[in-house]
Amino acid sequence: MKKYVYCFDSQGTEGNAKMRNLLGGKGANLAEMNRIGIPVPPGFTISTAACVEYFKLNNKLPYGLMNQVQEGILRIEKNMARKLGDYKNPLLVSVRSGARISMPGMMDTVLNLGLNDKSVIGLAKETENPRFAYDSYRRFIQMFGNVVFGINGVHFEKALDKKKEETGSAYDTDLTAEDLKNLVERFKQIFKEQSNKAFPQDAWEQLTDAIMAVFRSWNTKRAADYRRVNKISDDWGTAVNIVTMVFGNMGDDSATGVAFTRDPATGEKRFFGEFLKNAQGEDVVAGIRTPQPISKAGRSSEDQITLEEELPEAYKDLEAIYKKLEKHYRDMQDMEFTIQKGKLWMLQTRTGKRTAMAAIRIAVDMVEEDLITREEAIMRVEPDKLDQLLHERFDPKAKKRLFGVGINASPGAASGVIALDPDKAVTWAKEGKSVILVRTETSPDDFHGMVAAKGILTSRGGSTSHAAVVARGIGKPCIAGAEKIEIDYSNHLVVSNGITLKEGDEISIDGSVGEIYVGSVLTGSSEITAVILGQMKPEEASMYSYYDKLMTWADDVRRLGIRTNSDTPHDSWTARKFGAEGIGLCRTEHMFFEGDRILAVREMIFASDPEGRKKALDKIRPMQQKDFEDIFKEMEGLPVTIRLLDPPLHEFLPHTNEEYEELSKRIGIPVEELMRRGQQLKEVNPMLGHRGCRLGVVHPEITEMQSRAIFTAAANLIKKGVKVIPEVMVPLVGLKAELDDQEQIIRRVAEEIQRETNIPFEYKVGTMIEVPRAALMADKIAETAEFFSFGTNDLTQMTFGMSRDDAGKFLPLYVERGFCRVDPFQSIDRDGVGQLMGIGVEKGRKTRPELKIGICGEHGGNPQSIEFCDELNLDYVSCSPYRVPIARLAAAQAKLKHQK
Ligand code: ADP
Ligand code: MG
Ligand code: MG
Repeated sequence: MKKYVYCFDSQGTEGNAKMRNLLGGKGANLAEMNRIGIPVPPGFTISTAACVEYFKLNNKLPYGLMNQVQEGILRIEKNMARKLGDYKNPLLVSVRSGARISMPGMMDTVLNLGLNDKSVIGLAKETENPRFAYDSYRRFIQMFGNVVFGINGVHFEKALDKKKEETGSAYDTDLTAEDLKNLVERFKQIFKEQSNKAFPQDAWEQLTDAIMAVFRSWNTKRAADYRRVNKISDDWGTAVNIVTMVFGNMGDDSATGVAFTRDPATGEKRFFGEFLKNAQGEDVVAGIRTPQPISKAGRSSEDQITLEEELPEAYKDLEAIYKKLEKHYRDMQDMEFTIQKGKLWMLQTRTGKRTAMAAIRIAVDMVEEDLITREEAIMRVEPDKLDQLLHERFDPKAKKRLFGVGINASPGAASGVIALDPDKAVTWAKEGKSVILVRTETSPDDFHGMVAAKGILTSRGGSTSHAAVVARGIGKPCIAGAEKIEIDYSNHLVVSNGITLKEGDEISIDGSVGEIYVGSVLTGSSEITAVILGQMKPEEASMYSYYDKLMTWADDVRRLGIRTNSDTPHDSWTARKFGAEGIGLCRTEHMFFEGDRILAVREMIFASDPEGRKKALDKIRPMQQKDFEDIFKEMEGLPVTIRLLDPPLHEFLPHTNEEYEELSKRIGIPVEELMRRGQQLKEVNPMLGHRGCRLGVVHPEITEMQSRAIFTAAANLIKKGVKVIPEVMVPLVGLKAELDDQEQIIRRVAEEIQRETNIPFEYKVGTMIEVPRAALMADKIAETAEFFSFGTNDLTQMTFGMSRDDAGKFLPLYVERGFCRVDPFQSIDRDGVGQLMGIGVEKGRKTRPELKIGICGEHGGNPQSIEFCDELNLDYVSCSPYRVPIARLAAAQAKLKHQK
C-alpha cells in the first residue's frame, strides 16, 4: 500500500526538511524540528500525494489512507496516554493545512478537534480548569463549522460579542467558565441553524471531515487566486498535519506567539516578535487584544512588558531554539510557538518573508557571521525588489484617502499639484511647485512635462506604454492605465471615486503599488539613492554600506556587462553613479523635441527639396553635436552607442493651428500647403512604415547630419584629452543592403572629419536586431555590422505580430488564461523571440567571432530576461538608469545559476 502518513514523535521522525514537496513546508519543517531535538508536539503528516489522489477520485479519500491515519493516531495516543474521543482523558489534535510553498492564510486549519459534550467535561475535570475546557470547545465549534461547513465566522463572533456585552467583559479572557459554557450551547445552535445538522459528537467523524475539508481548502477561490498571482501550480495539493494540541489558553502561565529571528522590516539582528497570554492559535494576528513584545531588544517602548520578563524560563528556551533554528536553516526564520503552563512548544518554522532592505542586511550580516557564502548572499536578494530601496517612498504612517488605482508602472512615490498639460507642468515646476502630470496618455511631445513633473499618472495604457517606459527611464514614479479616472481637459477637472479634483489641487501617487491618493502624503527620500547621487554622506545612511557590499560582491561574480539607456547628460551621470559601464542606447529623437529645435525639425520635414532639408538640418546639427559632447563627457572612457533617428517623421508634426501658423511664418509656406503636406506624411501603419533606417535611406542627409554631429563631438573632446568611444547604431535593419547603404555614409563622414580636424579616432558601426529577418540573416548582416543590439521591444511586437501599444486590449487576458506564461513585453518570450535571438547570436558570431552583442529593449532591465541573455552569451544588457543596480544583481545571479 502506498505510504501516505509520516510520523514525528519521541520514537522517531519519518520526514525531514528536504521533503517539502511531499509533506508541504509546514510538515517538512515540523519533522525537521523534531529530528534535531526541538520540542514539537507529537503528530503526523498526510502527504500532498494523498490530496492529489483525493481530487483524482472526485473528492474521495484514497484507499488505505484512513487505516494509516488510525495507526498514526494510535501512536500519538500511546505516546500521550490519551485517547481520541475519550470522556476522561481526551486526546485533542489540530488538523492543519500546509502546501509546498507557504500560502499564508489562504488555506484552513482546525484546532481542538476531539472535543464533544462529554470529553469537554473530562478535560475540565482533568485540568481542573473548566474555563479553559469550554473556551477550547467554543473555538472548536466555530473553526469546524467554518472550515468543514463553510459557516461564516461572523455568526459566531456576533454571539461572542453579545455575550461579552451581557456580562460587561472587555475581553474574551474576562468571560467565566459559566459564560463560555452558555456560549458553547449558543454556538451549537448556530451550527445547527447554518448547516441543518447537529454538531457531530463522534471524534472520528470530526477527524475524517476535517481532513477532507483541509484537502478541499486547496481549491477555495482565494487560494486559487493566490496561486495564479504567485505562479504556483494548481496540481500540487496540500498536505495535512495532525498535531497534538498544546494549550496557550490555560491561564496566565500560558501563551501563544509568533517570532522572527531577525527584524523582517529592517533586517536588524534582534529577536523580534509578539505574544498573547491566555490565548490560542491566531489570536495574536487577529488583533483581539494588543499583543506584547517578546524581547526587551525588540520592543518599541520601555513600558511594554515582554515575554522575557513575564515567563523568563520559557523565554530562555525560546531564545536557545531560535538561535539553533537559524543556524540550522542558515536563514532568518519566522516561527509559531505556544507555551502551556510555562512549557514551550514549537508549532512551525519557515524562512521569513522580508523587505528588500531586510533581505540585503540579513544576507550581508550572515556572510560576516560566517553562516553563508557571498554567493548565497547574492542569491538571497530578489533583484526586482531593489526598486523599493532606490526610489522615494511614502511615510508608511501617513494618513491616506484613496482616489483611484492603476497599473504600478514605475516605482516610487510622489505628491504634487495636478497639471493636465506638459507646458503647465514646466511652468509650475519652475515656480518651485511639485507637479504630478496627469494625462489620458503621453506622447513624445509631453517629454518636457514628464521631466519637470515629480510623477506621472495616465488613465490609459499599460506598463509598457510611453508614459511607463519614459518614467522608468527617468526614474520617476508612474501609474498608468487608471481607467476609472476621468480626465476632463476642457473643464480642467479630474474625477474618480466620487471625488472631483481641479487642476492645481494636490494629489499623491504610489507607483510601487499603483495607488492614487487625494492630497499630499509625506514622502521620504531613499537613503541609498541619496548616497549614490552624492546628496548624503555614506556614514549617515545606515543601509548604504550593506547595499554597497552586496553590489560589490555581485560585480565580482557577474560576466555580463551592464550599460544604460540614456538620452541626456543627466541620465548618463545618474546611470554611471548607479554603476553603468557605458550607454547601450542613446535615442536621438528626444533631442529633436527640446526647446526651439522642433521648429528646425519641422522646417526640415516640410522642405521641398534636399537643399532646403540640408539648410534646416544645418541648424539642428550644432545643437545635436553639443548634446553628444555633453553625453560623451559624462561617459568618459566608456562606450556610447548612439542610435540614428528612428521614429516616423509625422511624430514631429505640429499639432495645433497656432503651431502651423508659427511654422508658416517662419518658413514662408502657406498654412494650407503645410497642412496638406502634413496630411501626406500620415501613415496607415506607422510602426511598420517609414521609420528606422528607411528614413536615412530615403533622406541620406539626415544620416549625414547625425554622423557629423557625433564625430565632430568626438573629435572636439579627444582634442581636449577626453577619451571617447562612439558606436553608431542603425535601427530597423532587415536587409544587409540597408545597413551597407547607411554604413557607407557614416564611414565617409567619419573619414572626412578625421581629415578636417586632423584628429584620429576609433568608432564602430553596428545595427539593431529588431526585425525578425535581421535575426535570420545575421550572418550576412555581421559582414558589415561590428556590433548587434537586440531591440527586443520591436522584435517582440514583430515576432508576435502584435502592436505593443494596442496589446492592452487582449494580452492581459492571454496571460490570465495561460496562453503565454508572462507578458512578452515584460519578460522575453524564450520560445519564440528567444529562438530568433539565439539564431542571431549564433549566425552573427559565425561570421564575426568578436562581434559584440547586447540588448537594449525594456527587457534589458528584467531579471528573467537578463538570465536568458547570460545563457545566450551576450556581452552586455542595457537598461534605464534606475534599473542598473537591479541588472547588476540579476546578472550575478544568472552567472551563479549557470555555474551549477
Ligand atoms: P497557518 O498555516 O495559517 O499559519 P497553522 O496550521 O499554522 O495555520 O495554524 C494556525 C494557528 O494555530 C497557528 O497559530 C498555530 O500555531 C496554531 N496551532 C496549530 N496547531 C496547534 C497545536 N497542535 N497546538 C496549539 N496550537 C496550534
Ligand atoms: Mg502557521
Ligand atoms: Mg525599435
